[in-house]
Amino acid sequence: MHDYDKLYIGGQWCAPRGQDVIEVSSPFDLKPVGRVPEAVRDDVDAAVAVARGAFETGSWSRLPASERIAVLERLLDLLTPRTDELADLQTSEMGAPTTFSRAVYGPGPAGVLASTIAIAKSTDWEEIRPGTTGLDIIVRREPVGVVAAIIPWNSPLFTLVGKVAPALAAGCSVIIKPSPETPLDANVFAELATEAGVPAGVISVIPGGRDIGAYLVNHPGVDKVSFTGSTAAGREIASNCGRNLKRFSLELGGKSAAILLDDVDIDIVTAGLKFASLANSGQACIAQTRILAPRSRYDDIVEALGAMMAGLAVGDPFDPSTDVGPMVAKHQQDKVNSYIELGLAEGAQLVTGGLDPFPDLPTGWFVRPTLFSGVNNSMRIAREEIFGPVLVAIPYDSEEDAIRIANDSEYGLAGSVWTSDRERGIEVGRHVRTGTFGVNQYLLDFNAPFGGFKASGVGREMGAEGLSEYIEYKSITPPPAG
Ligand code: NAD
Repeated sequence: MHDYDKLYIGGQWCAPRGQDVIEVSSPFDLKPVGRVPEAVRDDVDAAVAVARGAFETGSWSRLPASERIAVLERLLDLLTPRTDELADLQTSEMGAPTTFSRAVYGPGPAGVLASTIAIAKSTDWEEIRPGTTGLDIIVRREPVGVVAAIIPWNSPLFTLVGKVAPALAAGCSVIIKPSPETPLDANVFAELATEAGVPAGVISVIPGGRDIGAYLVNHPGVDKVSFTGSTAAGREIASNCGRNLKRFSLELGGKSAAILLDDVDIDIVTAGLKFASLANSGQACIAQTRILAPRSRYDDIVEALGAMMAGLAVGDPFDPSTDVGPMVAKHQQDKVNSYIELGLAEGAQLVTGGLDPFPDLPTGWFVRPTLFSGVNNSMRIAREEIFGPVLVAIPYDSEEDAIRIANDSEYGLAGSVWTSDRERGIEVGRHVRTGTFGVNQYLLDFNAPFGGFKASGVGREMGAEGLSEYIEYKSITPPPAG
């Protein structure tokens, strides 16, 4: 059990100002996993006050970048041996299958941190540029200030490190607002950051829901909001930040298309989509959930994909043979099942899956891996993010038609193409309007800028672009020396 009776504010365990407690239970057997105090507004005020204090005094913000990087390297040394333990904690908290957690949730955060360190080392924090007036300009990269990092439940630690690592590298103070479903790993991470040498005030964790998140976003002491979550919440946060001219970056939802070209090897694609479309039980923003298949091969592809999905092992997320675990919570199970109902009501054909309960699984928020065929791109199941193991197969007539359908979406987060011809695949990728795109796979690369076109977000994480989200650029123009 991970029981916390205090909040981590500015590097210290502090008594919470409120009375309420967030109980975390396993989405599989519903047994308790841990508990944290629920933060109230006074706790947020305290976290912002210490964050601002640290920022203004410069205990972290004005350190030479090399000293901050040395602390992050110590943090990496502390985080790396905890990889499997933290992967397992996320399986306990949100039900991610252990094979996925151990492969992605475990090593991912350390990988992102290592990549951020390398990028921070190669960044010119203060450079001289020749000006157009005849005077040289000193261009400085300075921290943006106090950052609110708002985290969803579906990839908690990975998302957290994707925000906190570049924010710390740049010299910001950070207040982490984890989701109420998955607040535990943020505490472990914050404690490690302090142990590594991040000074007092710089890092806080305020577990809570939407209301406390909104209070933090609107707090006058916060300079920048870095948010990952739903597009609906992102829109609200963007308008709140806009009103106050606060900086913000948003990593939002997706409805990514996997385009299967007419030369595709069906065995390769079904094996690939098992991960690209269904990893983390389909609760992934980048999941390839619209399967675009050439009409000439549509029936064969649907049959093969249906057989793969019907064969997925659904069950205990800690069982290494499990492919699909429970949804994070009952609200998510209800939401996904409501989309399966909607698909049936919209006239799509159920290839596999559906709404039958699982007689052998007495507890757990399970849904059946579900494939719909006979779907067109205007149906709601083809347009809205379902966030579970539910795929739709859409026929297309030509490569151009496939690209048009892929782009006919409110979202633009990710995509992929599957083909025997690498060059043809890359060319298709050039025409699909998404932030990332894979050919014959979909994998995140920590050195690649990641983020969304259109309603999938604003700004980027990872790579040098991810670091720049936490930087203000300052130009100083002195007279010539001497
Ligand atoms: P959510 O928007 O409900 O919540 C995300 C976080 O924001 C939570 O911590 C929540 O408490 C907080 N929050 C919600 N409304 C808020 C508001 N108005 N002001 C401040 N904070 C608020 O999303 P979720 O259900 O936790 O996560 C799933 C969503 O996240 C999906 O849409 C998924 O696509 C998206 N996601 C995107 C990425 C990406 O990188 N693009 C990665 C992971 C998840």
